[in-house]
Amino acid sequence: MSNYVTHLECSYSQKKYVKNKVYNLSDLSKPLLVRYDFKKISSDYSYSDFVNRHADCPGFWKYLPLLPINSSKSIIDLGELITPLIKINVSKFSKNSEVFVKDEGRLPTGSFKARGLALAVAKAKEFGIQKMAIPTNGNAGAALAAYASKANIESIVLCPEDTPTININEAALQGANTIIVNGLINECGKIIGDLKDKMGWFDVSTLKEPYRIEGKKTMGLELFEQFNQNLPDAIFYPTGGGTGLIGMWKAFQELKELGWLNCKLPKMFAVQSETCAPIVKAFENNQRHAELWENASTIASGIRVPAAIGDFLILDAIRESEGSAIAVSEESIINCRDAIANETGLLMCPEGAATAAGYIKALSKNLINENDQVVLFNCASGLKYPMPEITKKIDKNNLSNKDFS
Ligand SMILES: *Cc1c(COP(=O)(O)O)cnc(C)c1O
Repeated sequence: MSNYVTHLECSYSQKKYVKNKVYNLSDLSKPLLVRYDFKKISSDYSYSDFVNRHADCPGFWKYLPLLPINSSKSIIDLGELITPLIKINVSKFSKNSEVFVKDEGRLPTGSFKARGLALAVAKAKEFGIQKMAIPTNGNAGAALAAYASKANIESIVLCPEDTPTININEAALQGANTIIVNGLINECGKIIGDLKDKMGWFDVSTLKEPYRIEGKKTMGLELFEQFNQNLPDAIFYPTGGGTGLIGMWKAFQELKELGWLNCKLPKMFAVQSETCAPIVKAFENNQRHAELWENASTIASGIRVPAAIGDFLILDAIRESEGSAIAVSEESIINCRDAIANETGLLMCPEGAATAAGYIKALSKNLINENDQVVLFNCASGLKYPMPEITKKIDKNNLSNKDFS
């Protein structure tokens, strides 16, 4: 089988680029998007065939006709799966709330970065690329390391010095040449941009190559299948570079083009921390591009992204969907993580917890209704992040009842 890709397209000017060539950005230095032959796909597949015919491919790879790889032989298998939707309710929500968590922490490498990097590495392998470099706040580096090692490709991971230690260590253990930089993620990205030609690296920064977004798109395909050819009223997405939000929006348009999607599209909510909220600021100021956020810092390291190259794509999707961009406090992120873990047993990552805080804020601003069906994205395993220490101790030789209070 060959794929259904017709061409690539500049996301800004719509200029077409021929397929089967190695690309980073378009001539205008904007992200390139992959386009497919929807007529041909829908004549070869019914929706039911689409979701069932390649069910032997692991997890999201089963959506093969809407993926850019040349055949199922290109799949790099680390045990991908369709991530579960888990209904939760906590006392912070309303009694009637219909909230589902899409738990991406169960993917290989413990985060949804696996989706994007699986596709980027699979395509790189098809192209014969030998060295891939990435700037990362943690999870993307770990995912690149894992898939590249499995594909026998060298990986170089540059991370800011305050990246969670576990992410730095996992990337290194999974085979990446892992290097700590005294700067933020955009500065790590600049180093890669400056050195890539000299070093022979292929740059896999967020949206600086066309295929990670194709992997992230599968979140939208999964939701459509899990909601029985329907979609929730709203999606809350912790937004850094925004690949997932843009990717899901792309998936919904593609399902529409294929004639398989007839339902209302969800309102897309980009959630950021008040201490790093460039997209929220641009949204509120009615701008199409975001300004660099100075002194970015947040405990939700995955969304500590001061400047996103796909800013206009994030903002376009939010506006088209009649969603919004919401900034939440660091304190509310921690409070939501703690309440959800304590009351429902689901340990979310801080980024995921931020979406719960965003949901509560959207309710209070009447941007959604309390009985709306809502999906929150838990993008990584909560186990990857620092947790409060336990200080209670007992002396086994000298027990008293108050030890246990
Ligand atoms: C990368 C990441 C995000 C942000 O995802 P984007 O699609 O780049 O906006 C959110 N949460 C976690 C845990 C991440 O690793």
